[in-house]
Amino acid sequence: MTTQTLQTAMPYRIGDPDTACRYPVIIGKDQVIGRAHRWHREWFVDSSAGEHNLRRPPKGQAGIDMAAAYLAEEYAVGRITAIPLDQARAEEPTPLCGPVPLLHPRMPATDRNIKSAITAFEGLAAHHWRAVLTGFPGSDNHWYLSCLLCPWEGPKFWSHLRGRNGAPPSAHRHEGGCIGKDKVRQLITAYQQ
Ligand SMILES: [Zn+2]
Repeated sequence: MTTQTLQTAMPYRIGDPDTACRYPVIIGKDQVIGRAHRWHREWFVDSSAGEHNLRRPPKGQAGIDMAAAYLAEEYAVGRITAIPLDQARAEEPTPLCGPVPLLHPRMPATDRNIKSAITAFEGLAAHHWRAVLTGFPGSDNHWYLSCLLCPWEGPKFWSHLRGRNGAPPSAHRHEGGCIGKDKVRQLITAYQQ
């Protein structure tokens, strides 16, 4: 009688996004098999095999899940290797001290993009956000921001922060609740009009 080892899907979890808005995909205790990020509607993975565009997820599947499952499969068959989370964190781009450039490096400096970026930066200032690392990446790409009302920082979409139809955005600024919606409304003039 022979014993067969079944190839089962490798369990993984998705860690907190890094300063470049990439989500680490982690197996075991702290082994990062790659990082996933969204750019416009497509999802990309970075791993020991380089960057790979997975394009759009199938309908009904979250892009991050598609990306994580892809990495887990590649790792299971030995096509990519893992690095410890500490090492992955150490390789992250460090936040800048001074002002960031107006545009994200992938955003072409067209008149339209420049105009949108200026509007976005005015909005950040009005709503007490700071761009930590890059310039404006477009409305629907992750933008790594720090909250100036509390120590939170993480990726946000400008399309969620700018409000709609002249109304200000939700006073729920980010997960964790910030300083509370009432205080947020008191501190930011856009909520008082
Ligand atoms: Zn906050």
